[in-house]
Parts: sequence; structure tokens; C-alpha cells
Amino acid sequence: MTASNNLCSTCGTITQYRIEGRIQGQYCEICSAWQVVTTYFSALELDQTLYRLKIMVEHRLKPEQLKALSAMLNLNYLEIRRAIDQQKPLTLSGKAKDIGETIKTLTSVNLAFECQPPFPQIID
Ligand SMILES: [Zn+2]
Repeated sequence: MTASNNLCSTCGTITQYRIEGRIQGQYCEICSAWQVVTTYFSALELDQTLYRLKIMVEHRLKPEQLKALSAMLNLNYLEIRRAIDQQKPLTLSGKAKDIGETIKTLTSVNLAFECQPPFPQIID
């Protein structure tokens, strides 16, 4: 990118590169305006791999674990308990962005899981 591209077309101030949500581009702080804007997709969003998660559960689930599982599997507490009693695997699959969120949730409630293929992204 040449220097002229980094100047605000309105006031001539040097613009700053910014990412906000799904927008990236040159931003003029004087005018509070975007100059060159493109849509930003993170590596997670561009990853088209289908990941499969197998959630490892023990018989005694803590309330927060039950709550998290209920939300991510779209099952009620009774259905989850039944699946665990019957030793049915709790699995779900999805693209990197969704799986990344799920892994964050699982980690936050201390639930172990296996991911196939191994999840490559660094989760922050
Ligand atoms: Zn400006």
C-alpha cells in the first residue's frame, strides 16, 4: 500500500489500519470515518473443516456443566442424564467458528473432550 492510500480523502490526515468486528480498513481519527474498507474474516471463519467433538462426561455433572451441555446440545437436563446413563456419546460437529465457541465453553466448565480432526486454532 502506498502512502497516498493512507491519507484521508477528506482532511489529508494519515489514517490508521483498524479491524472492528467484520470490518477492516483505513480509519481517519480526525473525521471518525473509514476510508478503505473490506470485510474481515478471521482464520476461524475461513476454516471450512468439519470438526467433530466428543464430550467426555462422568456421572456426576455439576449444575454449570449440565447447563452448558444443555445449551450446546439442545437437549434438556433429563435427556442429557438419560444419554449419560445409557452411556451414549455426547457428540456434536461444526465448523471452526462454532466449535471454537463450544471448546471455550467446555473448557470454562471443566468438561473434557476429544476433537477430530484436532482443533488447530489458538483460542483466546
Ligand atoms: Zn479525515
